[in-house]
Order: sequence, then structure tokens, then C-alpha cells
Amino acid sequence: MAKMIGADCRQCRREGCKLFLKGERCTTKKCAMERRPVAPGQHGTGRKRVTEYGTQLREKQKVKKAYGILENQFRRYYEEAERMKGVTGENMLSLIERRLDNVVYRMGIGSSRSECRQIVNHRQITVNGKTVNIPSYQVKVGDVIAVKENKRELDMFKQLKGMKIVMPKWLEFNSDTLEGKILALPTREDIDLNIKEHLIIELYSR
Ligand code: SF4
Repeated sequence: MAKMIGADCRQCRREGCKLFLKGERCTTKKCAMERRPVAPGQHGTGRKRVTEYGTQLREKQKVKKAYGILENQFRRYYEEAERMKGVTGENMLSLIERRLDNVVYRMGIGSSRSECRQIVNHRQITVNGKTVNIPSYQVKVGDVIAVKENKRELDMFKQLKGMKIVMPKWLEFNSDTLEGKILALPTREDIDLNIKEHLIIELYSR
């Protein structure tokens, strides 16, 4: 399977913002964006002239990296969002946010999206009682997301029991039963990454 290359923290420094790629470390002082928030490389601290295209491209890269999505799939989200009613940029983010690996991350089952992608790939998650191992699976309102019954005794899941997990209002998750539900579709306000999605739409509309 194709994958994005490059140290996680380097990606954040390139995009100039936290992309939360390394789990718990991202919220500590060890985070590279706290210690050295400049672009990587020898000329990272230098001033650069950025073109309009460059700004739009960086915005797209930011979203792709944060969610771990490759170009072809990202474009498909854009094309689907364009066919939907409403604001294309917001639709696109909502579709991306509804990926199963992201939902597992938002529910706090894993500490980063890449870890959650692995959890899904390893057949440890069920949707409405059926195993789903497709990270890009689109959740719907009412779907019940759970850690598979025979995996609940794994240390990584046992340690969640009783934990208070903060999550967006469109989701609920019970850390004792390791089951959660999709209460609504995510809206733009539910997505906490600092993204100017209109720049991405401008890029694709060129
Ligand atoms: Fe690294 Fe910080 Fe980015 Fe997390 S948020 S991947 S710790 S730079």
C-alpha cells in the first residue's frame, strides 16, 4: 500500500501547524511545534515569497497529512463534495471527517489517526456488529461503532475502561462497554483543525 513518507513532526513543521500525528506526544512540551516551530531544513528560518498557488497547495497538503489521505482519494472527496448540496469545502471536510479511522480516533480508541487506521486494518472494529477493516469506510447517523468483542481484553483497549474521553458532539462513546454511536453528521464547527478549505476548492477549480 502506498503511504506518505517523512517524519511526522517534520510534516507539522513544513505546514506550520500541529497536525497531531504522534498521539500523546502532540499535547506535551516535547512536541516539535512547541520546541522549534519553523520549517525543516537548512533554510527553514528564512523568509520565502509564497505564491497564491503555493498557499492553496499547502492548505491541501495540511488536510491530506492530518488525515493520512493520498492524492487520488482526496480528489474523490472533492468531486463527491462538489456533487452535494451546500458549500463544497464544508462538504468535503465532513466527508473526510466521517472516515471510520477518524471516527475511531475521535472516540479516543487510539491516540493518533495512524494508530486508528491500524486498529481498523487489523479487524478490531465493528460497525453495527460487523467487522469493517476499511479505514475510509463512511459512517452514517445511527451507526454503532465498537471494539470487537474478542479484542476487548487487549491491554490497549482495557486501559480505556472508565476513562473520561472528550469528543465532538456528533459522537458518543462509552469507555466501559467500548461501544459508541454516530449521533449526527459532522459540521464545519466540529472540525478543530485550522483549515481554510476555500483555498483547496480554489486549487481544484483552476
Ligand atoms: Fe510532532 Fe507536535 Fe506534530 Fe505531534 S503535533 S506530530 S508532536 S510536531
